[in-house]
Order: sequence, then C-alpha cells, then structure tokens
Amino acid sequence: MQGARDDVIVIGAGAIGLATALALCGQGRQVRVIDRGRVGAATSYGNCGTVTPSHAPPLAAPGVPLRALRWMLDPRAPLYVRSRLDPALWRWLLQFSARCNARHWLQATRARAALLNDSRVRLAEWVGTHGLDCEFETRGLDYVFGDARSFDQHIAQCEALDAHGIATRCIHGGHYARDNPAFHDRLAGAIHFPGDAQLRPDRFTAELARVLRAQGVEIDEQVEMQGFSGDVHGVRVQAGGRTLRARELVLATGPWSPRWARLLDLRVPIQPGKGYSLTWSRPPLVPARPVVLKDHSVFVIAWRDALRLGGTMEFAGADPRLRAQRLQALQLAADRHLRMPRGAQLQEQWCGWRPMSVDDVPLIGRAPAHPHVWLAAGHGMLGISMSAGTGQLIADLVCGRTPAIDPAPYRPERFR
Ligand SMILES: Cc1cc2nc3c(=O)[nH]c(=O)nc-3n(C[C@H](O)[C@H](O)[C@H](O)COP(=O)(O)OP(=O)(O)OC[C@H]3O[C@@H](n4cnc5c(N)ncnc54)[C@H](O)[C@@H]3O)c2cc1C
Repeated sequence: MQGARDDVIVIGAGAIGLATALALCGQGRQVRVIDRGRVGAATSYGNCGTVTPSHAPPLAAPGVPLRALRWMLDPRAPLYVRSRLDPALWRWLLQFSARCNARHWLQATRARAALLNDSRVRLAEWVGTHGLDCEFETRGLDYVFGDARSFDQHIAQCEALDAHGIATRCIHGGHYARDNPAFHDRLAGAIHFPGDAQLRPDRFTAELARVLRAQGVEIDEQVEMQGFSGDVHGVRVQAGGRTLRARELVLATGPWSPRWARLLDLRVPIQPGKGYSLTWSRPPLVPARPVVLKDHSVFVIAWRDALRLGGTMEFAGADPRLRAQRLQALQLAADRHLRMPRGAQLQEQWCGWRPMSVDDVPLIGRAPAHPHVWLAAGHGMLGISMSAGTGQLIADLVCGRTPAIDPAPYRPERFR
C-alpha cells in the first residue's frame, strides 16, 4: 500500500462510508475504504433498517427538554439522560435544549426532509441498478397509537409534513386493528406513511461491500486510522502503522467523529445516543409493514426470518453495556400491542450509538480548513434512510458537480 496514491480514501465502512464510496465510484473515482472493524459491524448493524422520510421532524422540538427532565427519573423511558460528569455531554445538552423551539424545528425539518426524500428515491434506484439483495420493501410504515391524546397531536402535525412532500393517511384505531390482525384491538389510531420503506441493514452493508469489491474498490478491514494531515495537493493518512496518500479523504466515522475535531479545526458536536434492539426468530403473525409504537417510541420490523424490536435513546456517553431494563422496555411495548410479540428463539440483543448531532442535521461537506478533507457524519436516527443521499451529495461536491439538493444546511462549518 505504501507509496501508492489513492484517489479517494473513505474512513468508515458503515452505511454512510459505503454509500459514499459507491456514489464516488459511480462518478468514475478510484476509492479505498478503511475500517478498524468489519464492514457494517458498528452502528449500521443492529438498527431497524427503516427508510423514513416520515422522520423529517427533528428530536429537538418544543417541549422536549421538560419531558426529558421528567424521564431522567425513569430508566425505562424512551429518552433517558444519565446524569454524569461529562462536560461535552452537558454542553451538547444545553445547545440541544436551546434549539428546541419552533424556528429551529422548521429549519431542521426542511433540511432533513430534502435529504430523506432524495435518499429514499436513490435507494430504490440503487437496489434496482446494483441488484442489492437486502429485503428492500416499499410498503410504507405506520405510527400506531394507544393514547388518544398523542394520536390527536400527531394528526395536527400531518399538515406540516405534507408541506415537505411527506404523504400521510390517518386511520381510526378500530379500522386499523380490523385490517391488521397482528395487533390487539385497544388502539386509538394509526398514521400511515406510504412513502417510507424498509431493508435489512446488515444485508444492505454487506451488499454495498459486494458491489464495491466487484468494481475494484479495496476495503481494508481491521485497519485503524490514527491520524491524517493535508495540504493543497492532498492528504496523508496514518492507518494500520503505514502512511497512505490520497487526493481526497472522507471521514464517515459515525459516532467516533468528534475525535477528529481538533485536526479539522472544527467543532463536531456529536454525542452517542445509545439505542437497543432485540431480534427474535419470526413468529407466525407479524405486522404487514414496519410500525412505530408511538406511546413507547419502539420500532417493530419483520424480515423473511426475523422480527426486530428497536428503540430507546440514552445519553450516557460511550457506555457499551446492555442494560436489561432498556431491553425489557422494548419487549413490554411489543407485548402490549402485538398478539405475537416474540418468536421461538431470541436471536440477538444489541446496542449501538447513534451519532447525534446537536441540531439533528448531519454534517456533510468539506472541512473548511482542509481543501481535501470531507465529513459525512452525525446522521443520528436516520443513517440508513439518509445513506444514498449523503453518498451522492459528497460525490457531487468532491467532483465539483451541482448536487441534486442544496448542500448549505449540512455544511460542517455551521459549528465552527
Ligand atoms: C437501535 C437503533 C435503531 C436504528 N434504526 C434506524 C432505522 O430504522 N433507520 C435509520 O435510518 N437509522 C436507524 N438508526 C441509525 C443508524 O443506525 C445510524 O444513523 C447509522 O448506522 C450511522 O451510520 P454511520 O456509517 O455513520 O456509522 P457506523 O455504522 O457506526 O460506521 C462508522 C464506522 O467508522 C469506523 N471507524 C471509526 N473510527 C475509525 C478509525 N479511526 N479508523 C477506521 N475506522 C473507524 C467504525 O468502525 C464504523 O464501522 C438506528 C440506530 C439505532 C442505535
């Protein structure tokens, strides 16, 4: 490897890094991908694989800080902040709280919707063009409510979503239960999002890697980047005890991205937002499409041979422990609403860290002080949904083409 010069090096073989590599290849660039672990084995592994323009509204919404304070007393709550002495976490929480207002909500919703809608269309194209065998389905997604007040509040938001190109259909609880035998009857209502989709995330990253390798991309697994430096001509990357040279460097390092802030002369306000999933073998009766049990913020998704429950958002630093209470909270929510909330075998219990940027909008673009270093990180709860759009946006910017969407809202220097 030493001495040779790559055109583009992408650090990170998660959904974002691999999608970026594929979009760059599509524009004729020669790419190398480096990951300190295995392809798709970090945050992109055990997530729920929903592709959700429905999730354009950000987490930072009016009323969230108060709710989060109440929930701090309940370790089973969907959003949980563990009080600990971590200045970076508290700075992040303060900045996040300052954004919980109508103006920032609208700004972030607009930016997220543009990227989500672009990415949703592109993902379907990629599945077709590259033959990605990842259980991609386009049956939409449903929010399901047991609580009538919460249902009414969400109905009121549907108009705002419509304005961002996200179609919705509200369904009475009784009608929903009649048409969806996987659910118990006690439902207040449901909102159907016909534009959402689903895939199996571990298959998605494995398939992206397969296509990349077939196109001649080298993917170096278990090689860690220790640092990099750049000048007007390109970059030098220290990885696996060697120095690699490239014209461009893309950092797609997910929740580990803040580590490079000092080298980038940039603030990278990303905190790990820990989430959990439980994967069962597939029971005989499952929901026909992915659902979010909104009273508990728990996702339920069925694939050919599995049923996954996922959710919870825990701000507790990079704590790798699987907490039984959080996993129980997922199962209790499913038990409450589904007739068959588990399969015969528990296949996996997992947790991962969502890369949560403080405004819930990813950082995509050139690092301002470095002409050849690019950032694609901070995709929070939506890294699978936004993967293809992010990859294409980086590829267009690197190649000097006019991107399909306005890149301004995602510029990393908004945090300088
Ligand atoms: C419970 C849960 C459910 C979720 N459900 C959904 C969902 O339904 N839909 C959706 O869109 N999103 C979902 N998400 C979010 C999604 O999983 C993330 O946004 C996405 O996986 C982030 O992808 P990434 O490529 O940025 O990060 P990662 O997948 O974490 O990839 C980053 C890679 O960088 C590598 N790396 C880091 N530092 C270095 C270094 N120094 N050298 C070399 N390699 C390095 C890591 O090893 C890693 O492989 C969910 C998340 C969780 C936790």
